Amino acid sequence: MEDFDFIIVGSGPAGMGAAFSLIEKHPEARILMIDKTPYSTGGMRNDCKMNFTFPIGFPLEYWDQQSADRYLEQVTRFLKPTILPKSNIATYQARAERLGCSLLEIKQTHLGTDGGLALIKELQQRLKDHNVTLALGETMTDIDNKEKCITTDKRKIRYKAVLIAPGRQGFHFLQEMMQRLDVRYVDNILDVGIRVETRIEHYPIVKDYYDPKFYFKEKVRTFCTNSGNAHVVREKYATARGDVWYSVNGHAFAANENNNNGLVNFALLKTVRFTEPLASGQEFAEHLGLMAALMGGGKPLMQRVGDFRLGRRSKNATFNGDLYDFKPSLQGASPSDISLAMPSKILRYIWSAMKNLDTIVPGILHPSTIMYYPEIKLYANKPEYKDDHFQVAEGVFFAGDGAGTSRGITGAWASGIRASEGMSDYYLK
Ligand SMILES: Cc1cc2nc3c(=O)[nH]c(=O)nc-3n(C[C@H](O)[C@H](O)[C@H](O)COP(=O)(O)OP(=O)(O)OC[C@H]3O[C@@H](n4cnc5c(N)ncnc54)[C@H](O)[C@@H]3O)c2cc1C
Repeated sequence: MEDFDFIIVGSGPAGMGAAFSLIEKHPEARILMIDKTPYSTGGMRNDCKMNFTFPIGFPLEYWDQQSADRYLEQVTRFLKPTILPKSNIATYQARAERLGCSLLEIKQTHLGTDGGLALIKELQQRLKDHNVTLALGETMTDIDNKEKCITTDKRKIRYKAVLIAPGRQGFHFLQEMMQRLDVRYVDNILDVGIRVETRIEHYPIVKDYYDPKFYFKEKVRTFCTNSGNAHVVREKYATARGDVWYSVNGHAFAANENNNNGLVNFALLKTVRFTEPLASGQEFAEHLGLMAALMGGGKPLMQRVGDFRLGRRSKNATFNGDLYDFKPSLQGASPSDISLAMPSKILRYIWSAMKNLDTIVPGILHPSTIMYYPEIKLYANKPEYKDDHFQVAEGVFFAGDGAGTSRGITGAWASGIRASEGMSDYYLK
């Protein structure tokens, strides 16, 4: 059986943060990084918009300003981002405050889906240059912490310390690993909402601030804004029984004069926290996703604001034309009535946020604006960690979005560094 000092499962930002930190601490160590895909499948591969200001991407259960800033400084030093310029922020902030809302000013950079891929390739090369073994296209399936070995679809491998950072898509897998390791966890929080798509002239703030972070009452916020060469996409999920549903999402390629569809999209999400008797936010999310899939003939739903305001469904025959003057960038969605599929309390808060947003940045309620549903974020596994370095069992560490320690690329990278410190201590014991 092969033997490594450190195994890192997942080559997303959490895995990368840990790998480069371990290389620095233990240049002699044998490090293996495994990923089931050739290039990581999360935010670095899709849009790669990075935020460098607390609390964006840093769940408050695990981070305070001081600790996040300390790690963010390391992330910044490594990634050397070019921070995007912003303008007219005070005007938008004053308008938001008058309504009891707020606009956070965040340091951001945007590489785009193509720029993100280039970054991943560069990082992989740097890992190889440091003698890290990359096993891409290999999937971890099991762990035996008594034997200190993991099983993949190809082999068994021994470790001294292991980091499992499988991202949001690894939500189910991580739950299986927690059951295997006897780690207690809850997943009682989720974000549910819509993705809004409109013409840039109806949301011109994006010319002043690439990804504006608005916070509204009742825990509703804007999230992941894309513009220029921007597209709405769908992500496929399956329940444990194999029933398929979709969440929508958005991304952009780097825009240039020849490559600009003139559209903007962003999520409006409401955070929902469950208490007893419902323990699993994930199961709740699956029911919402399945309901939407049922109504949409297996696809997510979309509705023009003009139809929504009149209380009528959008239809294929009337989806484009006259005031409905741009084609949806997502072809795989069904014109429908989102209010039939969405819990009314969530819809009420989201619609209230839309109205506030239209007062701060007039235009978003143009009849042509499209609301896609559902957009659901399933990253709220909350394991019982044994220490501040996200150790869940002797020598086993979790980090990143799937483990609830982050909600974005920079937070995931910081989580990886933080976990690597615990891995290093464990290795030296
Ligand atoms: C479409 C999309 C766009 C996003 N855009 C942004 C953005 O622009 N900015 C931002 O800050 N955040 C974005 N996010 C959120 C972002 O994914 C995360 O915040 C960040 O990538 C999380 O990093 P991570 O390392 O935890 O997981 P990931 O980046 O998801 O990486 C986890 C890796 O683990 C691998 N893996 C999973 N299970 C296994 C297994 N069993 N064996 C082997 N490998 C496995 C996966 O293939 C994956 O490559 C986006 C997410 C998605 C899905």
